[in-house]
Amino acid sequence: MFSVGCGCFYGVFCLMNQLDEKWKFETSYLNLPKELYALGTPSEVNDPELFIFNAQLANHLNLDFLNQHNQYALSVLSGNYVPSTTSSFAQAYGGHQFGYFNVLGDGRATVLGEIKGIDDERYDIQLKGAGKTPYSRRGDGRATLYSMLREYLISEAMAGLGISTTRSLAVVKSDDPVYREKIHATGVLTRVASSHIRVGTFELVARMGNPVFLKKLFYYTAERHYPEVLDDDNPILTFLSLVIKNQIHLVNDWMRVGFIHGVMNTDNMSIAGETIDYGPCAFMNAFYPDTVFSSIDERGRYAYSNQPKMAKWNLMRLAETLLSLVHNDADQAVKLVQPLFDDFDEQFNKIWKVNHLAKLGIILEQDGDEELLNELIRWMEIAKPDFTNTFRGLVDPHLHVDEVFQSPDFQFWKEKWQKRIASVDRYEELLREKNPSVIPRNHLVEEALIEASESDNLKPFNELLEKLQRPFEFYKSGIYQSPPLSDLGYQTFCGT
Ligand code: AMP
Ligand code: MG
Repeated sequence: MFSVGCGCFYGVFCLMNQLDEKWKFETSYLNLPKELYALGTPSEVNDPELFIFNAQLANHLNLDFLNQHNQYALSVLSGNYVPSTTSSFAQAYGGHQFGYFNVLGDGRATVLGEIKGIDDERYDIQLKGAGKTPYSRRGDGRATLYSMLREYLISEAMAGLGISTTRSLAVVKSDDPVYREKIHATGVLTRVASSHIRVGTFELVARMGNPVFLKKLFYYTAERHYPEVLDDDNPILTFLSLVIKNQIHLVNDWMRVGFIHGVMNTDNMSIAGETIDYGPCAFMNAFYPDTVFSSIDERGRYAYSNQPKMAKWNLMRLAETLLSLVHNDADQAVKLVQPLFDDFDEQFNKIWKVNHLAKLGIILEQDGDEELLNELIRWMEIAKPDFTNTFRGLVDPHLHVDEVFQSPDFQFWKEKWQKRIASVDRYEELLREKNPSVIPRNHLVEEALIEASESDNLKPFNELLEKLQRPFEFYKSGIYQSPPLSDLGYQTFCGT
């Protein structure tokens, strides 16, 4: 096993122990029934290399000591050494995958433990691609360097866009082969999440048929993410309503930037309301609401415009798992839960409208604003302009160079909008706050990932990352442009 001069001098051993202490690991998840996890350590990789490290996030997590101890950081973040102060584990969960329930679990991830950030919030530190676990089924427990860099880049871009998401602390590279459609290098991602409790965690536990387990999971999750519900008369209903509310906000945040998750299975939906499990996700360029990038989503179940509907479907699966705790009588339980979904669409659309009016610089809605917005959307549906540039170009006109923006229909709309916005104070500022000039354009992401994973050249990756971390800034030229050719044929693969 690779480690920091193991078995050698006292001083080194002491230093390791000191560093192990500095994580201040906790493992509250292990207080849950043991059926919900499997203790185990990551498998080692050969010749690991700390490929990318998020120093800013490390500071936020009280992990700045990792910056000063690179060898130690490398041995832990590669999975080659587990700090003596924790007990690592994989989590059990299930999930509806494309509509069908399966028993799953962390097949290639190991949670090292939980730590507290400088915000005093609790975070899971998880190594993704860290080798087989009891939940690996037929998988190899590994991930390609390419796909872990992809998750790093896109999750950090989401954070930059102000969207709730798991974060990425590091990617470790090893030349150990990962066999996919071709041979890849290995990547181990350090993922940071408010927790890894998923809709699918509740689904699995509900199917275990043990009400004590379900109650334990509920109270653990509520205390961790929604402690305010515990004082409530019916904590379960309030819990559900808050999870629903968070997802409505989250998926709306995806919609406002053109993000397509790609694999919204219930195992990939976090109870904390974070975007999780970046697989075949991608950002839409031209405005085709039925855009699907994932090669495995043949029927477009998780297309851009289907995301609200699928979020609701997933949340219904969550609600089902809790019915037995809501009321002893099943009909009564359904009667109590149903109203939470009755106004789902209305609530979703309300936030959608607020977000999209804000993208036009409108915060206080007046008569006619909704129609103004709808008119623009209708034009976009027909003309299929670049989604991002349509909005940002309203304040940075060099983004409206595409011919489509010269069309009389758009110009006519723009004049109306200009009349409306003229009276709004500092609307330009607002437009720049609400509309990114930079998103992870597929062609740029591909280029950066290929260079990084196949040629060891991180320059394009780092340049792109830097911009994506500050996507609302003004960039005069370069990467804001939509791709030279439409990327409608672009496909993302789950073979990760
Ligand atoms: P995903 O589609 O990435 O959310 O994964 C669905 C399920 O497959 C999860 O339980 C993963 O842990 C598991 N899985 C994905 N890739 C692998 C792999 N290479 N080895 C083992 N399990 C995997
Ligand atoms: Mg997953």
